[in-house]
Amino acid sequence: MRRSLGILLIFIFAAVIVLPSLIIEGVKFWRPEARVVGKGPVVRLAVNQTGEIKLLPLEEYLVGVVAAEMPANFELEALKAQAVAARTYTLKKINTAKSKPDAKHPQADVCTDAAHCQAWVPESALRRNWGLFNYLRYKGKIRQAVAATGGLVLTYRGELIEPVYHSTSNGRTESAEAVWGYNIPYLQSVPSPWDRDSPRYRNTLTFTLGQLEQKLGVELKALPAAALIPPRGEAMKVLEYTPTGRVKAVKIGSKTFTGPDLRRLLGLSSTDFTWQVEGDKITFISVGNGHGVGLSQYGANGMAKEGKNFVEILSHYYPGTRLEKR
Ligand SMILES: [Zn+2]
Repeated sequence: MRRSLGILLIFIFAAVIVLPSLIIEGVKFWRPEARVVGKGPVVRLAVNQTGEIKLLPLEEYLVGVVAAEMPANFELEALKAQAVAARTYTLKKINTAKSKPDAKHPQADVCTDAAHCQAWVPESALRRNWGLFNYLRYKGKIRQAVAATGGLVLTYRGELIEPVYHSTSNGRTESAEAVWGYNIPYLQSVPSPWDRDSPRYRNTLTFTLGQLEQKLGVELKALPAAALIPPRGEAMKVLEYTPTGRVKAVKIGSKTFTGPDLRRLLGLSSTDFTWQVEGDKITFISVGNGHGVGLSQYGANGMAKEGKNFVEILSHYYPGTRLEKR
């Protein structure tokens, strides 16, 4: 009886612990793309959470970037497009860091802060976040997206491009000029109708008038509500739109803000916004998510669902660029 209990325990241990680990290790062995890992350039990565600097083979680092930057249940061709954008960005940072080290992390080429460089998650976090089943499913898929595009980058006139991207546009992407004030030939506005199906297409954010006054340094509470209601309200009105319908300049109280500035100050999802006033509450309704420039991630997924491949996705969102092997 005791012996059979012992055998049962060993069996349970094998089934619960040993077998899954073997499967995970096995996945690494038999997947051909796993062989890519270890070759090519090395990335010096500043891990913001721990303060350490990791040295990682580029292709391995990219797996952690794609996993962090795009939902893993997206279509494979969309993940491939993201992998090419991330590789282009990283190589550009590595090249720049050689001659001009980054002021925020002079010892590293990139960091894990999505707002400064690009997001990255370690493998241990993926296993924890996804659970074993999804880990096995998604990890292989993301490795495949990176390996299938191995070494591919986007160039414009022989130079690595600025491969900016965002979650969801408002139906059209925005030009770099409209957001940052300088023209970049391959960052022009293109249609992105697939974004309307994105769960992040429409977003609302509510403030009290007091909160708005505090965040913006303006006076609003003393004004009659009608002065705040668009489009006639004089104290709060959009002064100018960009050609894609996003707010270029808006007047609030005695101040004028650019659309991107107001988005940053209030944490709005995008610069395509309007607002409603109810009592002492004001609700901003934004369309799209992110600055809107370059590749739209949900748009890329929509294109992939329609059967487009990553080459077509990238040439749609970065017109005039070339795909090159580096
Ligand atoms: Zn950084």
